[in-house]
Amino acid sequence: MIRVRFAPSPTGYLHIGSARTALFNWLYARHNKGKFLLRIEDTDRLRSKEEYLDEILGSLKWLFMNWDEDPTFQSRRFDLYKRYAEDLLKKGLAYMEGEAIIFKVEKDLTVSFDDMIHGKIEVSTNELKDQVLMKSDGTPTYNFACVIDDVEMKITHIIRGDDHISNTPKQILLYRALGLAIPNFAHMPLILSKDGGRLSKRHGATSIFEYKREGFLPEALVNYLSLMGWAPGEDREILPLDEIIKLFDIKDVNKTGATFDMDKLSWMNGQYIKDMDLADIVSRSEIFLKGNGIIDDKFDEARWSDIVKAYKERARTLEDFIGIYKIFFHDAIEYDEAAVEKYLKKSNSKDILNRCRVVLKSASSFNKASIEEAYRKLADDMKLKAAELIHPTRVAISGKTVGAGLFDMMELLGRDKVLKRLERFC
Ligand code: GLU
Repeated sequence: MIRVRFAPSPTGYLHIGSARTALFNWLYARHNKGKFLLRIEDTDRLRSKEEYLDEILGSLKWLFMNWDEDPTFQSRRFDLYKRYAEDLLKKGLAYMEGEAIIFKVEKDLTVSFDDMIHGKIEVSTNELKDQVLMKSDGTPTYNFACVIDDVEMKITHIIRGDDHISNTPKQILLYRALGLAIPNFAHMPLILSKDGGRLSKRHGATSIFEYKREGFLPEALVNYLSLMGWAPGEDREILPLDEIIKLFDIKDVNKTGATFDMDKLSWMNGQYIKDMDLADIVSRSEIFLKGNGIIDDKFDEARWSDIVKAYKERARTLEDFIGIYKIFFHDAIEYDEAAVEKYLKKSNSKDILNRCRVVLKSASSFNKASIEEAYRKLADDMKLKAAELIHPTRVAISGKTVGAGLFDMMELLGRDKVLKRLERFC
């Protein structure tokens, strides 16, 4: 049975790069009906923190990556590593330097392995130094603990970032010395920023929970991450998770770096919002607004559902719903200065908005169709294009140049609010 593992160090939050590593392991396990295990590499007692661990596990759960079996904690296994190191000492394959135990690397050998992504990789042992296994403080090194745990956890496939390629020959020498079977390796390309450099904070290398805070949906984020170095073919991009599981194969992962593009992720998130059931997005946006302390006692769920329906096609993140909420539920709205300048400071702006206000005030009913009819008629009467009424009205009542259809928006706002907001500019 295929057994893979994700091995984070709880010395920081879960970022895009490691989330993608976890995801590819998880997908490989689920595709092959294998097991996805967690190993917490917390040998650095000073830098490992409970809050990081909680956030890493929380982020994995949020992104649907459930794991099998209890996680393995390296900090609880120092005796195990020591036993293996002493075994190598006894066999004469390691030596001591003070309290430290060091593995002797035999010269003039070639270590080669068939990487599932990169193909054959060969390294001469002449390029390798002797390897510390146990440090003098009694803690194991990464390479040593990694090998012992991968063996003990019966890992069949090691899927990790390219940055570990240089560790693999060192680890293979340890497997050989211990007389243990060598697992399969797959090293994934790094995620690069749009300009080709390393992924920095500015380019989206923030923690997974930061994406949650910014209103991204886990479905969209997982979908986007799955495309970081892998493609299902036929230019398909929006894929539900069960489809990704069905199609995913580590052999199809690219050798070259994957590019992280924030705009693309936002676009994809918007597609998920657009395609989501109304009830679902209403409830998710409500939870998001509550979490941000936005919802007040004027909140009316039925009305909110109508508003979400009107904006669903346009919102890119749940965060966008904060601005939308404010337009409908707050009295004081925020105006986009440039929009005010462009649409409300023209010589005829006041006159136009005043005529709109008069027409809306006296309209016998106030719904999308009647408002539209009134506006088209007024535009004809004034010998203007409808757009010349629509743009200033939109800015006056919402503060922005973009949003839901103007007539939908006006109906949702209600006559009183619309008239009051227009009055400010008449
Ligand atoms: N803790 C290591 C890392 O986060 C794990 C490397 C591995 O998968 O072997 O890079």
